[in-house]
Amino acid sequence: AQERYASLRGLPAQSKDGAVVKLQMNAGLMADLPSLESSGAEGVGLFRTELQFLIRNQMPKRDELARLYARVMDAAQGHKVVFRTLDIGSDKVLPYMKPQDEPNPAMGWRAIRVGLDKPGVLRMQLQALIRASNGRDLTVMFPFISEQHEFASARSHLLREIHRERSLGHPVPQELKIGAMLETPSLAFAPRSFFETADFISIGGNDLKQFFFAADRENERVRRRYDVLNVSFLNLIEQIIQRCAETDTPLSFCGEDAGRPIEALCFAALGIRTLSMRPASIGPVKALLRRVDLTGARRVIDAARAEGAETVRPAVLDWLATQVD
Ligand code: PEP
Ligand code: MG
Repeated sequence: AQERYASLRGLPAQSKDGAVVKLQMNAGLMADLPSLESSGAEGVGLFRTELQFLIRNQMPKRDELARLYARVMDAAQGHKVVFRTLDIGSDKVLPYMKPQDEPNPAMGWRAIRVGLDKPGVLRMQLQALIRASNGRDLTVMFPFISEQHEFASARSHLLREIHRERSLGHPVPQELKIGAMLETPSLAFAPRSFFETADFISIGGNDLKQFFFAADRENERVRRRYDVLNVSFLNLIEQIIQRCAETDTPLSFCGEDAGRPIEALCFAALGIRTLSMRPASIGPVKALLRRVDLTGARRVIDAARAEGAETVRPAVLDWLATQVD
């Protein structure tokens, strides 16, 4: 199978009926960079910047981060890299920060909440990203946005840093894209103005699923209890797709489920055209997408929903078994 996937490397993830899905990779460590080439990923759809902070025993310095980010951009060779700002707290605790004693850290003081309440580190990180871009395009995504004002505040921090860099005579990004991760159900129902202001949105399915089903992603007893192909979850995804379409906001999916072929197929059939996943999943997802008809998959999903199925998985699997290569 590995050889078959390697032979697909230069080919697009294009379905039988001509829909093209962009497959990007998730990364976070410098060791991930060679996978950009070997997997055939079209850029990095999620660069988890906290990993660089987690592997150190002291806070990294701005210039050191800027050098790291520049290497990531270089490795992407003109493809986009979506840098997600620090998502610490919850399961990711920095050894050099005061531990917070929280009864429920996943819903606690984490990610953009920390960034907005104590903006020193966020601003340092944004400066490092601007310096790393050195006049090239820059794409920044803010994690765990629950309300539109959090996105607006985070965005204005970034714009302020751009002004500051410019006034210091440093180059600023040629093109700047500022996006939000949609990983709390509340954001799916945010006012239209949120969708208009975001340059793009990426669904963080790992967190979105845990909050949608109220099932802790770290708890072995419940983490696999609910299926993302459950009709309720697909209805939520469809709602997000529609809202993004109304405002022409580019949408991607970057949680682990994007890397599972059946799930990826269903998300694509509903209309998601960019999926970001671990590099090893790109081959299997591409292989499946290339051998199916997305309109047919959509018909099967809609029929299962109309019949009142709880999950569309059995219907999709049955249908796939009838599809010949
Ligand atoms: C997610 O929540 O789906 C996501 C991509 O971010 P993380 O797994 O780092 O929380
Ligand atoms: Mg998340």
